[in-house]
Amino acid sequence: MADNLKICFVSSEIVPFAKTGGLADVSGALGKYIHQKGHDIRLFMPYYSTIDTANQKLYPVEFLQNIPVEFGGFTITFSVFTAKLPNTAADVYFIQSEALYNRDTIYTEHSDEYLRFALLSRAVIVSCQYMGWGPDVFHCNDWQNALIPLYLKTHYGWDKIFAKSKTMLTIHNIGYQGIFSANVIDKLQLSGHRHTLPQEDLTNNTINYLKIGVLYADVITTVSETYATEIQTEEYGAGLDKLLRFRSDSLTGILNGIDYSEWSPESDPYIPHHYSMKNISGKKKMKKALLERMNLPFDANVPVYAVITRLTPQKGLELLHEILFDVLSYNELRFIILGSGDVKYVQFLERASSHFPDKLAFYNGYNIELSHWIEAGSDIFVMPSRYEPCGLNQIYSLKYGTVPIVRKTGGLADTVVPYNNGTKTSGTGFVFEKFNGDSLRWAMSYAYETFKNKDAWRKIMKNGMSQNFSWDKQADKYIELYALLSKK
Ligand code: ADP
Repeated sequence: MADNLKICFVSSEIVPFAKTGGLADVSGALGKYIHQKGHDIRLFMPYYSTIDTANQKLYPVEFLQNIPVEFGGFTITFSVFTAKLPNTAADVYFIQSEALYNRDTIYTEHSDEYLRFALLSRAVIVSCQYMGWGPDVFHCNDWQNALIPLYLKTHYGWDKIFAKSKTMLTIHNIGYQGIFSANVIDKLQLSGHRHTLPQEDLTNNTINYLKIGVLYADVITTVSETYATEIQTEEYGAGLDKLLRFRSDSLTGILNGIDYSEWSPESDPYIPHHYSMKNISGKKKMKKALLERMNLPFDANVPVYAVITRLTPQKGLELLHEILFDVLSYNELRFIILGSGDVKYVQFLERASSHFPDKLAFYNGYNIELSHWIEAGSDIFVMPSRYEPCGLNQIYSLKYGTVPIVRKTGGLADTVVPYNNGTKTSGTGFVFEKFNGDSLRWAMSYAYETFKNKDAWRKIMKNGMSQNFSWDKQADKYIELYALLSKK
């Protein structure tokens, strides 16, 4: 295995500093593992005003204060702060621009969103110049820093320090591409490079950051093998399928890993009762504690279904919308939903919980501690996603003996083995294929019936708990790819 690679890892979210979804978990864990394996990885993200600096102290980097970056007709200055990735010696660098990053949320709908993340891309490259550090690989993640490959070729092509640098773009979710009006091209200082931009977008008067990344990155990865295939189809490609087919030789899927030091029922710091495959009694205590906390009646024989999610159409909430009232009317079960997002789903779930106060509890918001409780205290985890690049909660669920119900798509298809009550052997969950309410209803009642058979259920739980999706293995795959790239 190659040693001492220089990796510049850029992400708009890294746990524990900023998180809205799986990208944060992946960035923090991958950063940690790559560093532990002896590589010089430096992580970069924006210095959002939402970062909890009372618990994580950030220190100014002396030689990276008030650095100007020229955009089209204006200058933005940034400063860099640093902290260690918790429990590691890996350095995280925070790009500070109060004008751009002092907002209530990480992502915004403000008119300068294009600039917030263009600055991130430029500031990372400029910081490397000031550090005198030419990375072997710039590892970009999602649209927020997908302009790096283009800027490296255009604005910074002259700098010999980057002569050997390669670029990798990881697509964590193709549903978000960073599409803006072409009016911003001048402001991005790209007006002299219009010929390098996808021409069909110019015709439509737009600029698409992710598409530019897909075009110019040396290698493209995504977060599961199935998703790597799916995004090359019209159904899942969100308009980028043609370009991805064109680049298919440079596209691979690497399944996300799990940081079991954060997500394991044996040592989870957030839960009051621990358990393992050998001694599972703590799970029953967690179920009781969870139901008490959510104000639902406890009965060991009644299954607890759970959902933890961003409330967006991607996550298949319309399927729940279609069947939830029926399912709750005709079955003795509990349902716990933790989520935040689209108002129409919030309203629907609030209605459902007031209609079934003894069966459904809905927590509207973002609560990391509660998410750990739910993983530990539930019996069944429901993920009926329309598409799912990788999905983390189904993998956490496997570890916590919380049997997942998933739709067969993306990473869900790659991580959950369908249970079959005929063969009763290696299944780890319940899998349905078609994106419709009836298919989900079928999977939920299949799980419901199987739950009554204690031996069968215990076997599925144990099959899941014995799976290993650790980052240790998956980080090696990234390192192999970095090494391969750096030799090109
Ligand atoms: P995505 O990145 O598409 O949101 P993933 O399954 O990859 O989906 O990752 C979601 C991550 O965000 C998981 O760690 C999950 O526990 C967490 N999460 C999602 N919604 C919430 C919430 N409302 N409260 C706490 N954690 C949440």
